[in-house]
Amino acid sequence: MTNATPAPQARSLHTDLPGPRSRDLMARKEAAVARGVGTTMTVFADHADRGVLVDVDGNSFVDLGSGIAVTSVGGAAPRVVEAVRAQLDRFTHTCFMVTPYDAYVEVCEKLNQLTPGSFPKKSALFTSGAEAVENAVKVARHHTGRPAVVVLDHAYHGRTNLTMAMTGKVVPYKDGFGPFAPEVYRVPGSYPLRDGLSGEQAARRTVEQIARMVGPDHVACVVVEPIQGEGGFIVPADGFLPAVVDWCRANGIVFVADEVQTGFARTGAWFASELFGIEPDVVATAKGIAGGLPLSGVTGRAEIMDSAGSGRLGGTYGGNPLACAAALAAIETYQAEGLVERARAIEDFLLTRLRAAAEHDPRIGDVRGRGAMIAVELVDPATGDPDAALTNQVAARARSQGVITLTCGTYGNVLRFLPPLTISLPLLGEGIDTVLASLAEIGAAA
Ligand SMILES: *Cc1c(COP(=O)(O)O)cnc(C)c1O
Repeated sequence: MTNATPAPQARSLHTDLPGPRSRDLMARKEAAVARGVGTTMTVFADHADRGVLVDVDGNSFVDLGSGIAVTSVGGAAPRVVEAVRAQLDRFTHTCFMVTPYDAYVEVCEKLNQLTPGSFPKKSALFTSGAEAVENAVKVARHHTGRPAVVVLDHAYHGRTNLTMAMTGKVVPYKDGFGPFAPEVYRVPGSYPLRDGLSGEQAARRTVEQIARMVGPDHVACVVVEPIQGEGGFIVPADGFLPAVVDWCRANGIVFVADEVQTGFARTGAWFASELFGIEPDVVATAKGIAGGLPLSGVTGRAEIMDSAGSGRLGGTYGGNPLACAAALAAIETYQAEGLVERARAIEDFLLTRLRAAAEHDPRIGDVRGRGAMIAVELVDPATGDPDAALTNQVAARARSQGVITLTCGTYGNVLRFLPPLTISLPLLGEGIDTVLASLAEIGAAA
């Protein structure tokens, strides 16, 4: 259960960035890979381990992104690596719909246990987050016999045709890629910094709009990220989610939690729904589920999940055996290493540093998030308007100093921190201090 080369957990840069090997690879990438597939970093990965990613020129980066909340157990978690190796020796694929295998069933059993709600549940496995969301919508429509799908402002649900329709932000996700799937309706949610509403007030606005503009009898499901991810790590005001869930239940509407980004210990709970005291009818999962292997799941009330008969759900690669083996090993890692508690320690650590910085820098308009899903929103101190240019400058500067730093937000003005849960606190501190120093330096230069 040991990796061949555990990477030293330290940031170290030996070349200009990008180094010569990365520059060569980037030239090949530009010649061979479609331009639409952009990259945040200009360096190519060689290996990764816990809080560190090493590039092909031997530079070590502090990883504050986890490949977008995927490698929460680390980039080469020993249990995951071992489990995938062992499965490789047995078989790589049979197609579960042709010849089933045990790991698929076991992952479903785990999902049924771990997701919120003590009612009987069933699951189905797929490959990407978008595919999980699509299948959550399929089962909700089949179960209710209704067409409409309701989503929130600032939502992100993926890049397939249906999930593009469900996603809010036009550039870069939707621009020029329509027409989009019909029967998707967008209503406001809860964004405390910008709407100033209590959770109750925001929920009333949300359900009144659904009632007036769509009609509850037409709605199959309301799909919500408990904490919005790409939209800006927006944490809804207390009471918002429970009120929306109650209204859905009263109207026979399936409440779907898109926990693709928030799931699997990321927010300091197994699933973010728990933080808000809600039990979704259906939960979509992916990202952190399998230590980096492509896997996604839909888990929900047994009567909803079973509404579609045999053969109605599936996909060639859904629940691939290597990915299922990885998921079982990742779940064991979350449990054995106490990573739910670890995410809470990361929350305390990051919030303390970021709030201290916000006290003397009015450009930090908000510090928010839960667990190891923390963000700062950068604004013009005079007006409170989003400052995307500053955000991009800070992120670029931090990257050039060896810290993988991501941004997000409808307005592009959110720095988001998604470290692996296995990162050491000193290394995390070094990463976050580099980002904060970048912010301070840009202020000094202006
Ligand atoms: C990333 C993400 C998706 C899409 O997942 P893919 O695996 O990229 O298809 C859907 N919903 C949320 C909340 C996400 O963060």
